[in-house]
Amino acid sequence: MARRQTRREMLKTVLGGGVATALGGSVFGAGRASRRAQTDAGESIELGGGVFVVRVPGQANVVARADADGVLLVDGGSAEGSERVLAAVDGVAGDGPVHTLFNTHWHPEQTGSNVRLGGEGATIIAQENTRLWLTTDVTWPWNGRRFEPLPEIGQPNRTFYDVGGDLPSGVRYGYIPDAAHTDGDLYVHFPEENVLAVGDAVSGDGWPVVDWWTGGWIGGIVGGIERLIALADAETRIVPARGPVLGLTDLEEQYEMYGVIYSRLSQLLNSGRGPDEAVDARPTEEYDARMGNPDEFVRRAFESQWAYLSPDA
Ligand SMILES: [Zn+2]
Repeated sequence: MARRQTRREMLKTVLGGGVATALGGSVFGAGRASRRAQTDAGESIELGGGVFVVRVPGQANVVARADADGVLLVDGGSAEGSERVLAAVDGVAGDGPVHTLFNTHWHPEQTGSNVRLGGEGATIIAQENTRLWLTTDVTWPWNGRRFEPLPEIGQPNRTFYDVGGDLPSGVRYGYIPDAAHTDGDLYVHFPEENVLAVGDAVSGDGWPVVDWWTGGWIGGIVGGIERLIALADAETRIVPARGPVLGLTDLEEQYEMYGVIYSRLSQLLNSGRGPDEAVDARPTEEYDARMGNPDEFVRRAFESQWAYLSPDA
């Protein structure tokens, strides 16, 4: 676990524990999807310029873009859903080969088409920490769920550390080093189409999963959203791994909300409270009616602060 310690130390330094919560009062309108396509496998929405969000029931969102060489994908669904996801992609983006697959992070809901597409010769792009998690056993301590490494053919074959890059098609990608969800989160930006795919760094569907075992934490949720806001404008369509397409206003609301929750959890931690007491303190109270039962999120978010901020962590 030496690598995780190192990242944790680095983030402590970078973040310094301070989170700005002041927001301007500007009003932004979320962009609207322009076209929808029903296929047997689910619903796809065109976001403009041939970029689609492909939504297959039970699967995380996938973003697809067709070009002269074939198809670029951001995430590929789970192993169980791979066939349906790729059929739905064919339905909107044509049946050209998937030449490029981004992994927004290592979770199996995103990397289930890696083996198949890697075997067909796709370039699989990920942040290096994502590749490392996909080469090792991972067991979540909170529920015992165990993840096996991917076969080598399915592992990312083009990785980067801090600086992402531009593809010849104009598509940009970059690291979200705040560790919003894991320590390997990346975004993919389609500047021409004004679409930003953000994986699980932003949740569009209830409270987020805080995977602190592979580096995510509540301070990173705040920092990650702030970073993504800086990439967006009032018309940007922001595609999270779960839930509907979001706009800038949604990110600004989330930034404010998680900033409030982060500072409350910090106070609880600094006054020596534990996870049970954090849940009992109801630090998300005014948001629960909209967001749902917060107990698991609060517990995990509190544990994530322990992991990052405790002097002996
Ligand atoms: Zn995830």
